[in-house]
Amino acid sequence: MKRILITGAAGFLGSHLCDRFIKEGFYVIGMDNLITGDLKNIAHLFPLENFEFHNHDVTTYVHISGNLDYILHFASPASPIDYLKIPIQTLKVGALGTHNLLGLAKEKKARILIASTSEIYGDPLVHPQKESYYGNVNTIGPRGVYDEAKRFQESITMAYNRFHGLETRIVRIFNTYGPRMRLNDGRVIPAFMGQALRGEDLTVFGDGSQTRSFCYVDDQVEGIYRLLFSEYDLPVNIGNPHEISILDFAQEIIKLTETNQKIIFKPLPKDDPLQRQPDISLAKKLFNWTPKVDRAEGMKITFDYFKSLSEEELFRSEH
Ligand code: NAD
Ligand code: UDP
Repeated sequence: MKRILITGAAGFLGSHLCDRFIKEGFYVIGMDNLITGDLKNIAHLFPLENFEFHNHDVTTYVHISGNLDYILHFASPASPIDYLKIPIQTLKVGALGTHNLLGLAKEKKARILIASTSEIYGDPLVHPQKESYYGNVNTIGPRGVYDEAKRFQESITMAYNRFHGLETRIVRIFNTYGPRMRLNDGRVIPAFMGQALRGEDLTVFGDGSQTRSFCYVDDQVEGIYRLLFSEYDLPVNIGNPHEISILDFAQEIIKLTETNQKIIFKPLPKDDPLQRQPDISLAKKLFNWTPKVDRAEGMKITFDYFKSLSEEELFRSEH
Protein backbone atom coordinates (compact mmCIF):
# COMPACT_ATOMS: atom_id res chain seq x y z
CA MET A 1 0.00 0.00 0.00
CA LYS A 2 1.47 3.39 -1.02
CA ARG A 3 1.79 5.87 1.84
CA ILE A 4 0.99 9.57 1.52
CA LEU A 5 1.31 12.43 4.02
CA ILE A 6 -1.26 15.22 3.59
CA THR A 7 -0.68 18.42 5.57
CA GLY A 8 -3.64 20.72 6.19
CA ALA A 9 -5.72 17.52 6.32
CA ALA A 10 -8.46 18.96 8.54
CA GLY A 11 -8.99 21.94 6.24
CA PHE A 12 -11.25 22.32 3.23
CA LEU A 13 -9.00 21.06 0.41
CA GLY A 14 -6.87 18.77 2.59
CA SER A 15 -9.91 16.82 3.80
CA HIS A 16 -11.19 16.28 0.25
CA LEU A 17 -7.70 15.13 -0.78
CA CYS A 18 -7.67 12.66 2.13
CA ASP A 19 -11.00 11.26 0.88
CA ARG A 20 -9.67 10.91 -2.65
CA PHE A 21 -6.45 9.13 -1.69
CA ILE A 22 -8.31 6.80 0.69
CA LYS A 23 -10.66 5.97 -2.18
CA GLU A 24 -7.66 5.23 -4.41
CA GLY A 25 -6.38 2.69 -1.86
CA PHE A 26 -3.55 4.70 -0.25
CA TYR A 27 -2.46 4.67 3.39
CA VAL A 28 -3.14 8.31 4.33
CA ILE A 29 -1.36 10.17 7.13
CA GLY A 30 -3.21 13.43 7.83
CA MET A 31 -1.41 16.24 9.66
CA ASP A 32 -2.88 19.51 10.92
CA ASN A 33 -2.57 21.87 13.89
CA LEU A 34 -6.26 22.90 13.53
CA ILE A 35 -5.47 26.62 13.37
CA THR A 36 -8.09 27.16 10.64
CA GLY A 37 -9.24 23.56 10.15
CA ASP A 38 -11.80 21.40 11.92
CA LEU A 39 -11.57 17.72 12.86
CA LYS A 40 -15.19 17.24 11.85
CA ASN A 41 -14.01 17.43 8.20
CA ILE A 42 -12.13 14.14 8.64
CA ALA A 43 -14.03 12.54 11.55
CA HIS A 44 -15.43 9.92 9.15
CA LEU A 45 -11.87 8.76 8.36
CA PHE A 46 -10.78 8.05 11.94
CA PRO A 47 -12.28 4.52 12.11
CA LEU A 48 -10.44 3.44 8.94
CA GLU A 49 -7.38 1.20 9.15
CA ASN A 50 -5.57 3.05 6.37
CA PHE A 51 -5.85 6.49 7.99
CA GLU A 52 -3.99 8.12 10.86
CA PHE A 53 -3.95 11.68 12.11
CA HIS A 54 -1.16 13.75 13.68
CA ASN A 55 -2.05 16.98 15.45
CA HIS A 56 1.17 18.81 14.67
CA ASP A 57 2.38 22.26 13.62
CA VAL A 58 4.50 21.74 10.49
CA THR A 59 6.60 24.82 11.21
CA THR A 60 8.34 22.66 13.82
CA TYR A 61 10.32 19.54 12.89
CA VAL A 62 8.11 16.95 11.18
CA HIS A 63 8.77 13.31 11.96
CA ILE A 64 7.02 10.36 10.35
CA SER A 65 8.10 6.79 11.08
CA GLY A 66 8.19 4.28 8.25
CA ASN A 67 8.39 4.93 4.56
CA LEU A 68 6.56 7.62 2.61
CA ASP A 69 5.90 7.65 -1.12
CA TYR A 70 4.18 11.03 -1.49
CA ILE A 71 3.66 14.28 0.40
CA LEU A 72 0.98 16.88 -0.32
CA HIS A 73 1.73 20.14 1.52
CA PHE A 74 -1.59 21.95 1.91
CA ALA A 75 -1.18 23.42 5.41
CA SER A 76 -1.61 27.21 5.34
CA PRO A 77 -4.29 29.72 6.18
CA ALA A 78 -5.99 30.42 2.85
CA SER A 79 -8.60 33.08 3.41
CA PRO A 80 -7.59 36.76 3.42
CA ILE A 81 -9.28 37.23 6.81
CA ASP A 82 -7.32 34.31 8.27
CA TYR A 83 -3.95 35.35 6.98
CA LEU A 84 -4.45 38.95 8.04
CA LYS A 85 -5.32 37.71 11.54
CA ILE A 86 -2.35 35.31 11.76
CA PRO A 87 0.26 36.88 9.48
CA ILE A 88 3.38 35.47 11.14
CA GLN A 89 2.04 31.90 11.17
CA THR A 90 1.13 32.34 7.50
CA LEU A 91 4.68 33.33 6.63
CA LYS A 92 6.10 30.55 8.78
CA VAL A 93 3.99 27.73 7.35
CA GLY A 94 4.84 28.77 3.78
CA ALA A 95 8.55 29.14 4.56
CA LEU A 96 9.61 27.00 7.55
CA GLY A 97 6.79 24.48 7.08
CA THR A 98 7.68 23.97 3.43
CA HIS A 99 11.37 23.65 4.31
CA ASN A 100 10.58 20.94 6.88
CA LEU A 101 8.43 19.01 4.42
CA LEU A 102 11.00 19.24 1.64
CA GLY A 103 13.57 17.89 4.12
CA LEU A 104 11.24 15.05 5.00
CA ALA A 105 10.61 14.29 1.30
CA LYS A 106 14.37 14.18 0.72
CA GLU A 107 14.94 11.83 3.65
CA LYS A 108 12.12 9.50 2.58
CA LYS A 109 12.80 9.84 -1.18
CA ALA A 110 9.15 10.84 -1.55
CA ARG A 111 7.58 12.90 -4.33
CA ILE A 112 6.18 16.16 -2.91
CA LEU A 113 3.43 18.40 -4.29
CA ILE A 114 3.00 21.84 -2.77
CA ALA A 115 -0.12 24.01 -2.84
CA SER A 116 0.69 27.34 -4.41
CA THR A 117 -1.90 29.88 -5.45
CA SER A 118 -3.12 32.36 -8.04
CA GLU A 119 -2.16 34.98 -5.40
CA ILE A 120 1.45 34.66 -6.54
CA TYR A 121 0.27 36.68 -9.58
CA GLY A 122 -0.83 39.45 -7.17
CA ASP A 123 -3.03 42.08 -8.82
CA PRO A 124 -2.27 40.78 -12.32
CA LEU A 125 -1.44 43.04 -15.21
CA VAL A 126 -1.77 40.13 -17.64
CA HIS A 127 -5.15 38.51 -18.24
CA PRO A 128 -5.89 35.61 -18.15
CA GLN A 129 -2.92 34.45 -16.10
CA LYS A 130 -0.53 31.96 -17.68
CA GLU A 131 2.13 30.14 -15.67
CA SER A 132 4.81 32.19 -17.46
CA TYR A 133 3.54 35.46 -15.91
CA TYR A 134 5.77 36.61 -13.02
CA GLY A 135 3.06 38.54 -11.19
CA ASN A 136 2.49 41.92 -9.59
CA VAL A 137 2.72 41.56 -5.81
CA ASN A 138 3.02 44.28 -3.18
CA THR A 139 5.60 42.67 -0.91
CA ILE A 140 4.86 44.95 2.04
CA GLY A 141 1.07 45.15 1.73
CA PRO A 142 -1.25 43.26 4.10
CA ARG A 143 -1.70 40.37 1.63
CA GLY A 144 2.07 40.17 1.13
CA VAL A 145 2.38 37.72 4.04
CA TYR A 146 0.49 35.10 2.05
CA ASP A 147 1.65 35.98 -1.45
CA GLU A 148 5.32 36.16 -0.55
CA ALA A 149 5.21 33.01 1.60
CA LYS A 150 3.78 31.19 -1.41
CA ARG A 151 6.34 32.70 -3.78
CA PHE A 152 9.14 31.65 -1.41
CA GLN A 153 7.51 28.22 -1.22
CA GLU A 154 7.78 27.86 -5.00
CA SER A 155 11.42 29.03 -4.97
CA ILE A 156 12.58 26.67 -2.23
CA THR A 157 10.71 23.80 -3.88
CA MET A 158 12.49 24.40 -7.18
CA ALA A 159 15.81 24.71 -5.30
CA TYR A 160 15.28 21.26 -3.75
CA ASN A 161 14.31 19.97 -7.17
CA ARG A 162 17.41 21.35 -8.88
CA PHE A 163 19.98 21.05 -6.08
CA HIS A 164 18.88 17.77 -4.46
CA GLY A 165 17.12 16.17 -7.43
CA LEU A 166 13.90 15.90 -5.42
CA GLU A 167 10.72 14.99 -7.32
CA THR A 168 8.50 18.04 -6.87
CA ARG A 169 5.17 19.29 -8.20
CA ILE A 170 3.66 22.77 -7.82
CA VAL A 171 -0.05 23.47 -8.25
CA ARG A 172 -1.23 27.09 -8.55
CA ILE A 173 -4.76 26.86 -7.23
CA PHE A 174 -7.36 29.44 -8.31
CA ASN A 175 -10.39 30.20 -6.07
CA THR A 176 -11.86 26.82 -5.19
CA TYR A 177 -15.09 26.19 -3.30
CA GLY A 178 -17.38 23.46 -2.06
CA PRO A 179 -18.67 21.68 1.04
CA ARG A 180 -16.49 21.95 4.19
CA MET A 181 -15.44 25.54 3.63
CA ARG A 182 -15.70 27.28 6.98
CA LEU A 183 -18.87 29.35 7.04
CA ASN A 184 -17.09 32.25 8.72
CA ASP A 185 -13.76 32.13 6.96
CA GLY A 186 -14.52 35.42 5.18
CA ARG A 187 -14.10 34.11 1.64
CA VAL A 188 -16.78 35.37 -0.67
CA ILE A 189 -18.77 32.16 -1.19
CA PRO A 190 -19.27 31.21 2.48
CA ALA A 191 -19.69 34.93 3.26
CA PHE A 192 -22.56 35.42 0.78
CA MET A 193 -24.20 32.07 1.51
CA GLY A 194 -24.02 32.61 5.28
CA GLN A 195 -25.48 36.10 4.89
CA ALA A 196 -28.33 34.76 2.74
CA LEU A 197 -29.10 32.03 5.29
CA ARG A 198 -29.03 34.45 8.25
CA GLY A 199 -31.22 36.96 6.41
CA GLU A 200 -28.44 39.57 6.28
CA ASP A 201 -27.52 41.92 3.44
CA LEU A 202 -24.79 40.67 1.08
CA THR A 203 -21.57 42.64 1.50
CA VAL A 204 -19.91 43.45 -1.82
CA PHE A 205 -16.45 44.98 -1.41
CA GLY A 206 -15.67 47.94 -3.65
CA ASP A 207 -18.08 48.44 -6.56
CA GLY A 208 -18.08 44.69 -7.26
CA SER A 209 -16.47 45.05 -10.68
CA GLN A 210 -13.48 42.93 -9.59
CA THR A 211 -13.62 39.43 -11.05
CA ARG A 212 -12.92 35.90 -9.87
CA SER A 213 -13.22 32.48 -11.51
CA PHE A 214 -14.57 29.78 -9.18
CA CYS A 215 -13.58 26.11 -9.38
CA TYR A 216 -15.59 23.31 -7.77
CA VAL A 217 -13.59 21.20 -5.31
CA ASP A 218 -14.00 17.85 -7.13
CA ASP A 219 -12.50 19.36 -10.27
CA GLN A 220 -9.63 20.83 -8.26
CA VAL A 221 -8.90 17.49 -6.58
CA GLU A 222 -8.91 15.71 -9.95
CA GLY A 223 -6.44 18.28 -11.33
CA ILE A 224 -4.13 17.88 -8.32
CA TYR A 225 -4.33 14.10 -8.58
CA ARG A 226 -3.35 14.15 -12.26
CA LEU A 227 -0.55 16.65 -11.67
CA LEU A 228 0.96 14.53 -8.88
CA PHE A 229 1.28 11.56 -11.23
CA SER A 230 2.41 13.60 -14.22
CA GLU A 231 6.07 14.00 -15.11
CA TYR A 232 6.00 17.82 -15.07
CA ASP A 233 7.82 19.67 -12.29
CA LEU A 234 7.15 23.35 -13.06
CA PRO A 235 4.03 25.16 -11.73
CA VAL A 236 0.63 24.34 -13.24
CA ASN A 237 -2.56 26.42 -12.90
CA ILE A 238 -5.66 24.51 -11.80
CA GLY A 239 -8.89 26.48 -11.78
CA ASN A 240 -12.10 27.11 -13.67
CA PRO A 241 -11.73 29.87 -16.29
CA HIS A 242 -15.43 30.85 -16.10
CA GLU A 243 -14.99 34.43 -14.84
CA ILE A 244 -17.63 36.60 -13.13
CA SER A 245 -17.69 39.99 -11.43
CA ILE A 246 -18.38 39.92 -7.69
CA LEU A 247 -21.48 42.08 -8.14
CA ASP A 248 -22.96 39.69 -10.72
CA PHE A 249 -22.00 36.83 -8.44
CA ALA A 250 -23.87 38.40 -5.51
CA GLN A 251 -26.96 38.60 -7.73
CA GLU A 252 -26.53 34.94 -8.70
CA ILE A 253 -26.41 33.97 -5.03
CA ILE A 254 -29.58 35.92 -4.27
CA LYS A 255 -31.33 33.99 -7.06
CA LEU A 256 -29.90 30.64 -6.02
CA THR A 257 -30.80 31.04 -2.37
CA GLU A 258 -34.26 32.42 -3.22
CA THR A 259 -33.81 35.20 -0.69
CA ASN A 260 -34.65 38.85 -1.14
CA GLN A 261 -31.51 40.16 0.51
CA LYS A 262 -30.17 43.56 -0.46
CA ILE A 263 -26.61 44.13 -1.65
CA ILE A 264 -24.59 46.63 0.38
CA PHE A 265 -21.19 48.01 -0.56
CA LYS A 266 -18.14 48.03 1.74
CA PRO A 267 -14.63 49.35 1.05
CA LEU A 268 -12.41 47.23 -1.17
CA PRO A 269 -9.62 45.68 0.94
CA LYS A 270 -6.11 46.89 0.12
CA ASP A 271 -4.43 45.11 -2.79
CA ASP A 272 -7.58 43.07 -3.57
CA PRO A 273 -6.85 41.83 -7.12
CA LEU A 274 -9.12 43.49 -9.69
CA GLN A 275 -9.26 40.55 -12.06
CA ARG A 276 -8.42 36.87 -11.97
CA GLN A 277 -8.86 34.10 -14.50
CA PRO A 278 -6.66 31.06 -15.01
CA ASP A 279 -5.26 30.09 -18.37
CA ILE A 280 -5.51 26.30 -18.08
CA SER A 281 -4.12 25.30 -21.45
CA LEU A 282 -1.02 23.80 -19.82
CA ALA A 283 -3.02 21.41 -17.57
CA LYS A 284 -5.11 20.43 -20.57
CA LYS A 285 -2.04 19.73 -22.69
CA LEU A 286 -0.07 17.91 -19.98
CA PHE A 287 -2.74 15.63 -18.51
CA ASN A 288 -5.93 16.39 -20.40
CA TRP A 289 -7.60 18.14 -17.44
CA THR A 290 -10.51 20.54 -17.74
CA PRO A 291 -13.14 21.34 -15.09
CA LYS A 292 -16.43 19.47 -15.43
CA VAL A 293 -18.72 21.05 -12.82
CA ASP A 294 -20.33 24.33 -13.84
CA ARG A 295 -20.95 27.11 -11.36
CA ALA A 296 -24.70 26.59 -11.08
CA GLU A 297 -24.28 22.93 -10.15
CA GLY A 298 -21.33 23.46 -7.80
CA MET A 299 -22.99 26.38 -6.01
CA LYS A 300 -26.15 24.35 -5.46
CA ILE A 301 -24.21 21.49 -3.84
CA THR A 302 -22.31 24.01 -1.70
CA PHE A 303 -25.45 25.85 -0.64
CA ASP A 304 -27.09 22.54 0.33
CA TYR A 305 -24.07 21.87 2.53
CA PHE A 306 -24.31 25.25 4.29
CA LYS A 307 -28.06 24.77 4.71
CA SER A 308 -27.41 21.47 6.48
CA LEU A 309 -25.34 23.16 9.23
CA SER A 310 -26.86 23.69 12.67
CA GLU A 311 -28.28 27.07 13.79
CA GLU A 312 -25.40 27.23 16.26
CA GLU A 313 -22.82 26.91 13.45
CA LEU A 314 -24.72 29.35 11.26
CA PHE A 315 -24.79 32.09 13.88
CA ARG A 316 -21.35 31.44 15.38
CA SER A 317 -19.38 34.52 14.37
CA GLU A 318 -15.62 34.41 14.48
CA HIS A 319 -14.89 37.64 12.69
P1 NAD B 1 -8.14 25.76 5.06
O1 NAD B 1 -7.88 26.90 5.97
O2 NAD B 1 -9.49 25.15 5.03
O3 NAD B 1 -7.10 24.60 5.31
C1 NAD B 1 -5.77 24.81 5.71
C2 NAD B 1 -5.42 23.81 6.78
O4 NAD B 1 -4.04 23.98 7.15
C3 NAD B 1 -6.24 24.02 8.07
O5 NAD B 1 -6.82 22.80 8.48
C4 NAD B 1 -5.20 24.52 9.08
O6 NAD B 1 -5.52 24.16 10.40
C5 NAD B 1 -3.93 23.86 8.56
N1 NAD B 1 -2.71 24.55 9.00
C6 NAD B 1 -2.41 25.87 8.88
N2 NAD B 1 -1.19 26.12 9.39
C7 NAD B 1 -0.70 24.92 9.83
C8 NAD B 1 0.52 24.52 10.45
N3 NAD B 1 1.49 25.40 10.75
N4 NAD B 1 0.69 23.20 10.76
C9 NAD B 1 -0.27 22.29 10.47
N5 NAD B 1 -1.44 22.61 9.89
C10 NAD B 1 -1.66 23.92 9.57
O7 NAD B 1 -7.75 26.26 3.57
P2 NAD B 1 -7.92 25.55 2.15
O8 NAD B 1 -8.79 26.39 1.31
O9 NAD B 1 -8.23 24.12 2.33
O10 NAD B 1 -6.44 25.70 1.59
C11 NAD B 1 -5.52 24.61 1.61
C12 NAD B 1 -4.26 24.97 0.83
O11 NAD B 1 -4.58 25.30 -0.52
C13 NAD B 1 -3.51 26.18 1.40
O12 NAD B 1 -2.12 25.95 1.28
C14 NAD B 1 -3.91 27.31 0.49
O13 NAD B 1 -2.93 28.30 0.42
C15 NAD B 1 -4.08 26.58 -0.84
N6 NAD B 1 -5.00 27.31 -1.72
C16 NAD B 1 -6.35 27.22 -1.56
C17 NAD B 1 -7.19 27.93 -2.41
C18 NAD B 1 -8.69 27.84 -2.32
O14 NAD B 1 -9.37 28.49 -3.12
N7 NAD B 1 -9.27 27.07 -1.43
C19 NAD B 1 -6.65 28.76 -3.40
C20 NAD B 1 -5.27 28.84 -3.52
C21 NAD B 1 -4.45 28.09 -2.68
N1 UDP C 1 -15.61 39.84 -1.29
C1 UDP C 1 -16.77 40.60 -1.18
N2 UDP C 1 -17.55 40.45 -0.07
C2 UDP C 1 -17.24 39.58 0.94
C3 UDP C 1 -16.06 38.80 0.82
C4 UDP C 1 -15.27 38.97 -0.30
O1 UDP C 1 -17.10 41.39 -2.08
O2 UDP C 1 -18.00 39.51 1.94
C5 UDP C 1 -14.78 40.01 -2.49
C6 UDP C 1 -13.30 40.25 -2.22
O3 UDP C 1 -13.05 41.62 -2.03
C7 UDP C 1 -12.67 39.73 -3.49
C8 UDP C 1 -13.59 38.58 -3.92
O4 UDP C 1 -14.82 38.80 -3.21
O5 UDP C 1 -12.68 40.70 -4.50
C9 UDP C 1 -13.06 37.20 -3.57
O6 UDP C 1 -12.68 37.23 -2.21
P1 UDP C 1 -12.15 35.94 -1.42
O7 UDP C 1 -11.80 36.37 -0.05
O8 UDP C 1 -13.13 34.84 -1.59
O9 UDP C 1 -10.86 35.44 -2.22
P2 UDP C 1 -9.59 36.17 -2.87
O10 UDP C 1 -9.67 37.67 -2.72
O11 UDP C 1 -8.45 35.57 -2.17
O12 UDP C 1 -9.71 35.77 -4.28
